[in-house]
This record gives sequence, structure tokens and C-alpha cells, in this order.
Amino acid sequence: MLKLPKNFENYEEARREGFLKVKALKEKGTPVVGIFCTYTPIELIHAAGAVAVGLCGTSDAPIPDAEKHLPKNLCPLIKSSYGFAVSETCPYFYFADLLVGETTCDGKKKMYELLNEIKPTHVMHLPQGQDKDHAFKYWREELIRLKEVLEDKFNIEITDEILREEIKERNRERKILLDFYELGKLNPSPISGHKVNETMEALGFQFDRRTQCDFIADRTRELKDKYEKELKGTKSNRPRILITGCPVGGVRDKVLKTIEDSGADIVAFENCSGVREKATLVDETMDPIDALTEKYLNVSCSVMTPNPRRFQALDEMIDEYEIDGVIEVVLQACHTFNVEAYNVKRFVTEKKDKPYLYIETDYSKLDIGQINTRINAFLEML
Ligand code: SF4
Ligand code: SF4
Repeated sequence: MLKLPKNFENYEEARREGFLKVKALKEKGTPVVGIFCTYTPIELIHAAGAVAVGLCGTSDAPIPDAEKHLPKNLCPLIKSSYGFAVSETCPYFYFADLLVGETTCDGKKKMYELLNEIKPTHVMHLPQGQDKDHAFKYWREELIRLKEVLEDKFNIEITDEILREEIKERNRERKILLDFYELGKLNPSPISGHKVNETMEALGFQFDRRTQCDFIADRTRELKDKYEKELKGTKSNRPRILITGCPVGGVRDKVLKTIEDSGADIVAFENCSGVREKATLVDETMDPIDALTEKYLNVSCSVMTPNPRRFQALDEMIDEYEIDGVIEVVLQACHTFNVEAYNVKRFVTEKKDKPYLYIETDYSKLDIGQINTRINAFLEML
């Protein structure tokens, strides 16, 4: 019989429901693996018969608990994730059988050491450059090690056949999600960027992936239909914005809603809340471990050095989505995105000749007024 957290009765209703939902899943025998990053080869987790749930925190509520152990001047995403873990307020963390992390940024990799004291945490060592032969070999070894850890933990053999099936299924999901994101290429877009971001975050907490993806596919069809019947030929004069930088789930209202309420449309996300991982499929014809190694090594996050794939993605997306301005959102104390922002600004303004705005923020409400003012000034300039 699985136990609920000691403060369960004091939680608000939605949180209690979340705990009961995950508990029921676990009682049916489905293992839960908590993940934190786009570099995680989810196909291996699915092939082990487990559900993979993203545990990146997007709320400032658990941050005071995190700050009892972690420095204040740390990325809010890391503090929020850790705060949910230590305060036992995240059902997915609480019931996770295993956590899988990667050595991406310094804050995350050191947090995993602390998380390992609460839950078994397997950390994959990610090479920090992509174009060296030995990076491929090293990362491939890390995938094999993860496969062995999952097999041991869940007492299952991950055969090539099962893995190939999971690769196909995940590719099918990627195509559906990419299609949804690419609604932003329509002008005017039939859906707001805020809504896109909210929909995708909710999807991450659904266990019946097939039904949920079918729901997104239906929604995409409806919105395309709406565009054809009601919107086509009525090009919007609202500026079209691309969001780049850190994941933005934790600043959705503070930044995304402010941009759209101030008269612009967010039509593209070049970040982990967007198409960063979805645009490239896993090769279904290769050895499955080789194919996954290649796929995940090529994710274009600023933890890579150099990081040319991010600039290629920005280059293509600014053209394909007919972007009028780029807004880079960097979470406070995220050094890799913060430093890379200088090159992103130069690329956007000099190579693409587009206006660029840099916003550094955290999950608090303290800078709402300042962000409002800066966004409004930027949009007026457009
Ligand atoms: S921004 Fe980088 S470190 Fe963060 S989730 Fe994405 S790939 Fe991982
Ligand atoms: S936003 Fe930056 S600092 Fe925060 S977890 Fe991601 S890469 Fe690390």
C-alpha cells in the first residue's frame, strides 16, 4: 500500500487529486520516472514500461523551501524543482521510482547530488560539444548505461524491437506536436502563444499519451479549419514575436501574457518550451541506440559549446514564421543562456536585421511593472 505525504490532508483539492491520480497509476504497476531536461532519451524510459514525467518546477511557491539548502542567486527553475521535492508537494516527484538527470548546467548537476538523497537519481554525463567523434561515443556509452539502469530497476529487458517501436511512437508524437507549434506560421495565427505554451505544459502531465496526442491532432485540424474559413487573407498587423532562451513555463503570465496583452502575437518558440527538440526525428532505419545517441546529442541548448545548431534554428525560424521581433527570456543566474545572449543579439540584429529584446527574470512578481514597461517600449518601436 503506497503512503501519501504527511501533510496530504492540508493540500488544496487540485493537489490532492494529483497525488491520488499518480498513486492509482502506481498501484496498477506502472513505474514513474522523473526527468528534467530535453536531453533525456525518453524512448528508453518508455521502452522500460515506465511513464516519464517532466519535473522542472514552474512555480515560485516552493522556492522558500529550496532556499533552505540552495543559494538564493540560483536559477528559479532549479530552486522550484528542488523545492517541490523537499516539501513533498509534487505528486510526480513524490511517487517517482527513479529520477534521470544529465550534466547540463552547473546548478542542475549539483542539485542532482542533493536529490539523490531523497530519490534514486541516475545522472547521465552529457558531452558539452557535439561535433567530435568521441562525443558521440561517450554519449552512446551513457545511453547504454541508462538502458542497463532501467533494466535493473524495473526488471525488464529492453530489446531492440521494443526500442524501435518506442522510437516510431515518439516520432509520431513529435510530428503531431510540431504540427501544432507550426500553426504559428499561419498569418494571422489561429491560436495565441500563451495558449500554445499552456497546452503543451498540461500535456506533459497526462499519462495516456496516445489519447492526448490524438486530442492535439484534432485541435490542430480544428484551428487550421478556422484559419481557412475565417482568417485566411486577413493578415494581422500585430507584430509577430519569436521567443528564445530558457524554458518559459514559470514566467508564462508575467512575460508571454504581457506581450500578447500589449498588442503582439507570439508565433514561435525557439526554446525547450517549443520546437527545440521536436523539429528533428529519430532515424528509424539505424541501430536504435546509435539513432537515439545522434538525436539527443544534437539538441541545441546553450550548455553546448559552441552551439551552432541554435543559430541555424533561429535563422530558419525567423524566416519561416515571418518574425518581426525576437524576445529572449533568460532565467536569473542561468549563465549559459545569459552569456550566449550576446551572440544571439548580434545574430538577430546584425545578420537577420530584426529588433531584439533581452529579459532576465525569475518566478517572483517583483519585476512585473518593469517588464511591462520594457515590453511596451519594445513593441512601440516595432
Ligand atoms: S534549456 Fe537546456 S538544460 Fe534546460 S531543459 Fe532545455 S536542454 Fe535541458
Ligand atoms: S534555465 Fe539555465 S540555469 Fe536553469 S536549469 Fe535550464 S540551463 Fe540550468
